[in-house]
Amino acid sequence: MDIKNFIDGKYVAPVNGRYIDNYAPATGNVSGKIPDSDVDDVALAVKAAKEAFPVWASMHPEKRHDILRNISEGILQNLDRLAEAESSDSGKTLETARTIDIPRAALNFKFFATALMHFASESHHQPNVLSYTLRQPVGVVGCISPWNLPLYLFSWKIAPALAAGNCVIGKPSEVTPLTAYLLGEICEKAGLPAGVLNIVHGLGPSVGAAIVSNPEIKAISFTGSTRAGAEIARVAAPMFKKLSLELGGKNPNIIFADCDYDKMLETTVRSSFNNQGQICLCGSRVYVEKSLYPKFRDDFVALVKQIKVGNPTDQTSRLGAVVSKAHFEKVLSCIELAKEEGGKVLCGGTAIQMPGELAGGWYIAPTVIEGLSAQCRTNQEEIFGPVVTIQPFDNEQDALENANSTPYGLSATLWTNDLKRVQRMSEKLQAGIVWVNTWMLRDLRTPFGGVKNSGVGREGGWEAMRFFTEPKNVTIEL
Ligand code: NAD
Repeated sequence: MDIKNFIDGKYVAPVNGRYIDNYAPATGNVSGKIPDSDVDDVALAVKAAKEAFPVWASMHPEKRHDILRNISEGILQNLDRLAEAESSDSGKTLETARTIDIPRAALNFKFFATALMHFASESHHQPNVLSYTLRQPVGVVGCISPWNLPLYLFSWKIAPALAAGNCVIGKPSEVTPLTAYLLGEICEKAGLPAGVLNIVHGLGPSVGAAIVSNPEIKAISFTGSTRAGAEIARVAAPMFKKLSLELGGKNPNIIFADCDYDKMLETTVRSSFNNQGQICLCGSRVYVEKSLYPKFRDDFVALVKQIKVGNPTDQTSRLGAVVSKAHFEKVLSCIELAKEEGGKVLCGGTAIQMPGELAGGWYIAPTVIEGLSAQCRTNQEEIFGPVVTIQPFDNEQDALENANSTPYGLSATLWTNDLKRVQRMSEKLQAGIVWVNTWMLRDLRTPFGGVKNSGVGREGGWEAMRFFTEPKNVTIEL
């Protein structure tokens, strides 16, 4: 499928006429062309957004709600088509796209459609003084998203931005642009006025950078790597733009011997390898209390060996392909590095050669490595693939030191039935999200984001509505 930009309510070719190849990870074949947009396309999108802003920002909330609900329903009506596009573009299993990615994208629009109906601002009382705070839309905002959960994360930014009354310049990852492309048509049918949402495709350093440096774009919501986040902050900070940065992770999964073992084991397989380990919340460093370690290692490795990696469209495949050739090579090189650092590969550790039409695809066996120190590169740097390390710990203090030893701080998972320990450790874990005896149990009302090199700011619920609005205090002496 050859795709186009969506600007001012219409699908248009990039101004420069240039395109880049899009690939299907399952086969490694070129699947279509993507606009290689640049600063000129962003300028057109910003012009359309600025023109649409006064009407959208002043539209009655109930009407805005109705349009966002229509988009949500439109996504569900296109579930099969969107799931096929998502799976083909990213290599994830069709089942994952059908049951997780696309339903969540629909929920993002439904959730923020409802949020805008309830969003309220503050009023502060003094005798004879009326002091209230307006929360007005920021204006034209930029939303830049990564490839691992394409429509899921794209809509997670766009929905609150629109709900709060902003016009949006959205840029999906150039690695997985298809579902964002299809979203344009759904928005148009849902009654979204032209210019309110504009979607430009292309590379980060060209079209992404053009969004970040455009002076008319007043806020940037970015999800992606820490490296790109730092570059965006460098450009946007001196322009005093509002910034929300959701960046990389290297999440610890801490397992105490008193946990519910079966639930922990089954969940740890998922939290290590779901979506080929390409979820920013996956637990990539597994720390296990010493007394439980030998049993855990044997049971865990036995289960991981049973995971079927295969054709993403096959119902029996649990994992599909990783997202790109570059990422495939990166993950394999990380496994080589782990071996050089003295790690012992307990299972996986190699690419999987598929037969027939999948022969050129990018498949990696789920990999478990032991015997590494907390300080080695393998345990410090994000891999973002189907690779986990496991290691024993002596006590709570030891577990905490290991867990907090990386520059990242997105999420942490804790397995224990000791409530006092939960409380002690949750306070000390350097992470924006702590899951206890569960993983990826999401409530869209809760704050979402990381500390340290995992980012700045929070998404979700009122946090997102506040990010996408400017508070203005009005004080009247009566
Ligand atoms: P990436 O940083 O390479 O790209 C993300 C997006 O930013 C893409 O759309 C890309 O084109 C764009 N981009 C790249 N350079 C840019 C620049 N200089 N200016 C503007 N835009 C630019 O990340 P990726 O490889 O697509 O995604 C994987 C990363 O995302 C991992 O590090 C993962 O941990 C992170 N991630 C974080 C979260 C979270 O919520 N914290 C969620 C998902 C993924």
